[in-house]
Amino acid sequence: MAPGYMGKILKVDLTTGTHETEETFTGDRERYLGGKGLATRILYDITKPGLDPYDPAMPLIFSTGPVTGTSVPQSNRFVVTTRSPLTGAIGNSTCGGDLATKLKKAGYDLLIVTGKAKKPVYIEIREDKVEIKDAQNLWGKGAMETQTALPRDCGLAVIGPAGENKVRYAAIVSGHRVAGRTGVGAVMGSKNLKAVAATGGKKFEIMEEAQLREFHKFMVKFLKDHPMTGDILPRLGTANLVRITAGRNIIPTFNFQQGHHAETLNISGEEMASHYLEKQSGCLACPIRCGREVKHQGKVIKGPEFETIGLCGNNLGVFNLPDIFTLSYLCDDLGMDSISAGGCLGFAAELNQRGMWKNGVEFGKGAQFAELLRKIAHRDGIGDEIAEGTKRMAEKFGGREFAINVKGLELPAYDPRGCWGQGLEYATTPRGGCHINGSTMYMEATGPITMNPHSIKAKPPLVVMQQNTAAAISSSIFCQFTAYAMIPKQAFGLNPNGFAYKAITTALLNSGFFLSMSVKSKMPATVLWFEKYLTMIFGRKVTMGDFNEYGARAFQMERLYNCREGFTRKDDALPARLLNESTFKDLMKSGVPLHLMLDDYYKLRGYDHNGVITQKELDRLGIRA
Ligand code: SF4
Repeated sequence: MAPGYMGKILKVDLTTGTHETEETFTGDRERYLGGKGLATRILYDITKPGLDPYDPAMPLIFSTGPVTGTSVPQSNRFVVTTRSPLTGAIGNSTCGGDLATKLKKAGYDLLIVTGKAKKPVYIEIREDKVEIKDAQNLWGKGAMETQTALPRDCGLAVIGPAGENKVRYAAIVSGHRVAGRTGVGAVMGSKNLKAVAATGGKKFEIMEEAQLREFHKFMVKFLKDHPMTGDILPRLGTANLVRITAGRNIIPTFNFQQGHHAETLNISGEEMASHYLEKQSGCLACPIRCGREVKHQGKVIKGPEFETIGLCGNNLGVFNLPDIFTLSYLCDDLGMDSISAGGCLGFAAELNQRGMWKNGVEFGKGAQFAELLRKIAHRDGIGDEIAEGTKRMAEKFGGREFAINVKGLELPAYDPRGCWGQGLEYATTPRGGCHINGSTMYMEATGPITMNPHSIKAKPPLVVMQQNTAAAISSSIFCQFTAYAMIPKQAFGLNPNGFAYKAITTALLNSGFFLSMSVKSKMPATVLWFEKYLTMIFGRKVTMGDFNEYGARAFQMERLYNCREGFTRKDDALPARLLNESTFKDLMKSGVPLHLMLDDYYKLRGYDHNGVITQKELDRLGIRA
């Protein structure tokens, strides 16, 4: 067994009701690490081009990584990978919760589910004992109730009614954490699979365990001393971003018709902390505890993340936190992605506002939106249309120019008209409109030091670097929020009008050449904690260059999958509203000038003019097509 891995893949076929194990293929594991990199490689290899996401042969892959199951902070996460029923492109989503560690301790690096059960089932994994059990009594139940009915000693991943009814943005829920994006829950529902439950006590080898324990102490202190991971996130949660994005005019408002609203600050992280916060919560073994538990209607429930506030609150004109708490809870319990749900409801409201689809949906009506979420999950009435996502709704009712999605995936809560590099990232990230595969907006608008958000200078190489780092993080698998700590803590104290701040931002903006060179550099040093942890686990040196290459390979593997499924340059696009309509008074701050960045990005990525990955680039990274 190689250090960092259990060495086994569990394959369950729900059509035949059988399972088997196989060794994790060493060559691929060494190239792709685990998580989304390895899962995408496997998905590509075991599916035929054009396979429908709802075809029983479509695999649903749960993957862990080499840091899963260790004491490393922010490491207990899993990735679910499949073909997205929302976009037709690569589909994946990462999740905290308790399944990741327990699946690995049950003895498996990955679980691959294929086939379709005749009736609702769940898979229970207790090391070598793998059973497919009846779940008819759970079908129709919410994600929270479902979890209480399953064995308490197991880590869980479940779907709610949205997954059962194949809402195209249905999620998979583990504890209070959610694998929300790209409709992975709908693929699970299409297999009549209500839940996965796993537990075990197996161990895997860590080569330098004593050093890892020591480094762990250092890292916990480092994260606690850092302003973002030690103060802002624990104190305000991800909702700290409400105030920042409103100040930057980039929080979606009325389906991206505006960049903020006079009432946006009513729903800020500060408001939540002052009036509703019961306590912080967090993922297993994570000292940051960015999750919220809030008082709501006499109960304590999970509080909303920033994205949920942005899309189900601000974007819908719902400017009070209790209504947003209800919407957030419903999204989780019904099992759907709150980003896509908020995006779809906002689009439906604007279609109604313009008389293009008389559906009665109106901005600002929190109770109406709660009812609509239930209708979406059960595909009841107009909920059946909204469950299809913005792209399909636009094909039916019109409004393509303000259907806010990329490749069909609804955009998160950062309007790229105030962070142009983020616009390029949205357009080019393989799974579609996504903020977690690079988070360029942090370097442009929401972080402590920002490169001019309305400039294209240095943005293509910045986006490539950010995407590669994020892909390596999701292959290891760390939580993406670990990247916040990469910005030195001293940066948080700088005066934006001071000399030092201006000098740094100017230097960053002029660093295009250097960044371009760095994209493919093989930096031989082990610098950041990602590389250090992997070095200690594997017992061999993992350098910054190696880590970057793992990320590049995982990212390009996703791109290769998309190319095989027919995605080209035309799909690396933004909705017309984000290209042509400005939300800023200053005429220089136009929509996103994507056309001025895309060719440079392709050149750095090794794509031809049509966006197809070249053989030279595949050879460089050792990717077989
Ligand atoms: S930072 Fe937050 S989301 Fe990430 S692992 Fe920690 S608690 Fe979970």
